[in-house]
Amino acid sequence: MTHAPVRATIVGAGGLGGPIALSLGAAGIELTIFDHDLVELSNLHRQIQFTAVDLGHPKATRLAGLVVSRGGKARGVVAKWRTPSELDGELAEYVAESDLIVDGSDDPETKFAVAGWAVANGRQYVIAAALRYGGNVMAGVPGVACYRCLFEEPADVPSCAEAGVLGPVVGAIGGAAAAIALGIVRGQRGLAGALLAFDDLRSVAEPRILKFAPRPGCPACMRAPISPLATPLRIAEGEPS
Ligand SMILES: [Zn+2]
Repeated sequence: MTHAPVRATIVGAGGLGGPIALSLGAAGIELTIFDHDLVELSNLHRQIQFTAVDLGHPKATRLAGLVVSRGGKARGVVAKWRTPSELDGELAEYVAESDLIVDGSDDPETKFAVAGWAVANGRQYVIAAALRYGGNVMAGVPGVACYRCLFEEPADVPSCAEAGVLGPVVGAIGGAAAAIALGIVRGQRGLAGALLAFDDLRSVAEPRILKFAPRPGCPACMRAPISPLATPLRIAEGEPS
């Protein structure tokens, strides 16, 4: 069995995407990083991968450049995340061939789109979110309850830009997301299908770990190539394989 380099798509190059991309890039994972935004002065307190020299430049390409400067492989795409079918050429291939997709965006609709694509295409994924003093991380692999099983629909929550987030909180949540992502690409599935909820990192550093069951009728799981909603009876009865 040959081991091609692991490829990952990172969605968001901000406070969460920074530590995620630097960690995965340093672990030898080849990255494609999407972000449509430019670096602004108000970002610097929580997006510590950027400095004053990055102001006005696209976050995606600056973060990719930083990963490369540390010996990693990365390309930045200055756009909101798109599915491979909405992309052209080599870029479509890189995204289509991602073994893992990690969302650190600040947009609930994007999180649902990323998780939905991953589930529909049988990929591993990690969705990270941070707001004010806490946040959460969910890891998914084929065959377990998915992001839509848990949250059902994108919630109308304020963004970090609107409601604020404590600088070190995005570092902590981004670091946890990166560690879990590295675990699942190496086959550790203990946290797959669970949500780690960090309520207030100023007072409690440990997350609550919420294990949840597949939701009957979940539209994402019903379409998944390996669905947790499929009946396990044939396996349970010991079908010869
Ligand atoms: Zn589901």
